[in-house]
Amino acid sequence: MHQLTLAEIARGLADKSFSSEELTGALLARIRSLDPSINSFISVTDELALEQARAADARRAAGESGALLGAPIGHKDLFCTTGVRTSCGSRMLDSFKAPYDATVVERLAQAGMVTLGKTNMDEFAMGSANESSHYGPVKNPWNLEHVPGGSSGGSAAAVAARLLPATTGTDTGGSIRQPAALTNLTGLKPTYGRVSRWGMIAYASSLDQGGPMARTAEDCALLLQGMAGFDPKDSTSIDEPVPDYSTSLNASLQGLRIGLPKEYFGAGLDPRIADLVQASVKALEKLGAVVREISLPNMQHAIPAYYVIAPAEASSNLSRFDGVRFGHRCENPKDLTDLYKRSRGEGFGAEVQRRIMVGAYALSAGYYDAYYLKAQKIRRLIKNDFMAAFEGVDLILGPTTPNLAWKLGAKGDDPVAAYLEDVYTITANLAGLPGLSMPAGFVDGLPVGVQLLAPYFQEGRLLNVAHRYQQVTDWHTRVPTGF
Ligand code: GLN
Repeated sequence: MHQLTLAEIARGLADKSFSSEELTGALLARIRSLDPSINSFISVTDELALEQARAADARRAAGESGALLGAPIGHKDLFCTTGVRTSCGSRMLDSFKAPYDATVVERLAQAGMVTLGKTNMDEFAMGSANESSHYGPVKNPWNLEHVPGGSSGGSAAAVAARLLPATTGTDTGGSIRQPAALTNLTGLKPTYGRVSRWGMIAYASSLDQGGPMARTAEDCALLLQGMAGFDPKDSTSIDEPVPDYSTSLNASLQGLRIGLPKEYFGAGLDPRIADLVQASVKALEKLGAVVREISLPNMQHAIPAYYVIAPAEASSNLSRFDGVRFGHRCENPKDLTDLYKRSRGEGFGAEVQRRIMVGAYALSAGYYDAYYLKAQKIRRLIKNDFMAAFEGVDLILGPTTPNLAWKLGAKGDDPVAAYLEDVYTITANLAGLPGLSMPAGFVDGLPVGVQLLAPYFQEGRLLNVAHRYQQVTDWHTRVPTGF
């Protein structure tokens, strides 16, 4: 049963080949036996899952239907879940049990999804390797010596290892798309505002966006359908109707205009990844797409701008974890300053502390104009580049990552080396655009992803192109040895 996609599970539950309780029990057993080797879960919610599964079976028996009713899901451990630890991968929140559900969690639960647990992640979603979690690193099921990507590394590894069919992730600079690429999944970062951020612990509020991670575009469409939509509790949520993503999945690609930014294919890109990207372009041309070169001239400024804006917002968002209002509190503080210093010093890991310091510096009087304001101006130029490009093409295609999944620990002492891995993904967050990564082949047994970017609210187009591509390729069906 663990090999089934969400769409297949929906059919199996509908025709009564198995019940949600049977499926849930089988997957929980699989998590128990296999997760110790990859560490993709922070919490497994056995009892809650079985209870939800029985409730879903009862709803179905009473005549309800729905593609997600009784289907399993895991949530990245920054989506608040009532009564269950929501740690954000940090010692700071190790004992935090949320008193409410995030909107995403609530909506998927209403659709009848069964929560198997909370997945491992980089601490406060900062990272690209899932090595900064307080609960230990996550390993890539394709090669246990390699990282799965981050920060939604647990969400990615769990699905890749067939511990469950689907998970939620969040993407501030690539954290859905990059781990999806490195573990052979399909991952979608929606348009900023498409999916509610309410109840998602904030990293950088103007960039964060939740989205689905699964094996196929078809499954991502089912999940996005359940997650998306206006939420009055999130002031940046957008009140736009949610289209039916499943009906556009099979639309023809005849005449679809795809742009390849020339800046994507320069030095820094592993040539073996470039070859696989070209092969995916050929496959899409065969399906009717018309491909041409475009330019995104300000792309080289994206990493420096992002690594000012994201830490600036993080330094502000994380100020609430002070040992008084929220988070870990040190033992026997001498006075208030000691309480703050030691609570934050003990609660936050090294990468989070680094980002808070960088962010607070960039926002401080005298440096604000030179760093933060400058970065915001670059952000606008990057958005303008995309707007100009989308006058001539419908979609932009390129690699998701410049390199393959690296070995655990390989970039440990060099944070900037890890930051550079985000070069293809962070521009979509800076501009607020939707992006999808899909499996496109292997190099040395490690998966390679291709990224598609679309204009605002064109998630349906991304899913359509990825689905058509997955009808003519079988990369997404490959299973890592041992799983
Ligand atoms: N790697 C990026 C960072 O560390 C992106 C992380 C994310 O999208 N959450 O900030």
